[in-house]
Amino acid sequence: MDTDGGGGHRARKRFGQHFLTDASVVEAIVDAIAPREGELLVEIGPGLAALTGALLERVPHLHAVEIDRDLAARLRRRYAAQRLTVHEADALRFDFGTIAGSGARRRLRIVGNLPYNVSSPLLVRLLDFRAGIEDQHFMLQREVVQRIVASASTREFGRLSVLMQAFYDVERLFDVPPSAFDPPPKVESSVVRMRVRIDRLAHDPSPLQAVLAVAFTQRRKMIRTTLLPWLDARQVPRPAIAPTLRPEQIEVPMWLSIADSCAAVSDVRLR
Ligand code: SAM
Repeated sequence: MDTDGGGGHRARKRFGQHFLTDASVVEAIVDAIAPREGELLVEIGPGLAALTGALLERVPHLHAVEIDRDLAARLRRRYAAQRLTVHEADALRFDFGTIAGSGARRRLRIVGNLPYNVSSPLLVRLLDFRAGIEDQHFMLQREVVQRIVASASTREFGRLSVLMQAFYDVERLFDVPPSAFDPPPKVESSVVRMRVRIDRLAHDPSPLQAVLAVAFTQRRKMIRTTLLPWLDARQVPRPAIAPTLRPEQIEVPMWLSIADSCAAVSDVRLR
């Protein structure tokens, strides 16, 4: 059932609405972002404006992408258009390129306390826009953050770890308990910082996504029965690693090297 999230708004479960009510957590997130005047800030899912308001104390203007029509209308009533540009849209479909600044010095800084049901697809989608993004600060379910920052040979290490670390420098900042939200979620949360890796901007994520899908779909299997035959069939040279390795034992730089070898063959062969 939907519950009153404050100010008369009923928190909508289908939009993953858990509103931040702990001012010290809001402050810690804004301190971590350290926004400065002149930067192009975009908040995904501003909700009842807990973060929005705190960010607007530090910068004159912010973009916000909110799917909930009622919340978008509230935000427009509360903040003048010169201060907050509200994009009433689904962040999973939104074209972040439309608010990218001109020139490399105006890359987007994206922030958000994300709805947990859309966090992984959104992270993958934002890869498409990364050339126009400087960094991302997100509150996510703690397990998702653990997966994003995980090292090889740990339980949490998987596709999301490799994909995110391939294109971002990632850092887990701090944990946030359910009591910081209204209504409280059933899970613990963490805040993660992700800075776009400029050295990887020219690389297409698709070959990496393809090899990760092949290897991690059966993550307990050795690569000699999954990844290596797949590479052979596409005439991609085998990497110089033991065929008895399982995908979670392969470090990110080796995944990048395998993806680079794949990138040298055509898309058609990769399918
Ligand atoms: N930022 C607020 C806070 O910290 O209190 C709200 C956080 S709440 C967890 C998630 C917010 O994202 C809600 O406002 C919800 O309506 C919005 N939202 C959910 N799905 C979305 C989507 N696909 N695109 C854009 N906003 C979305």
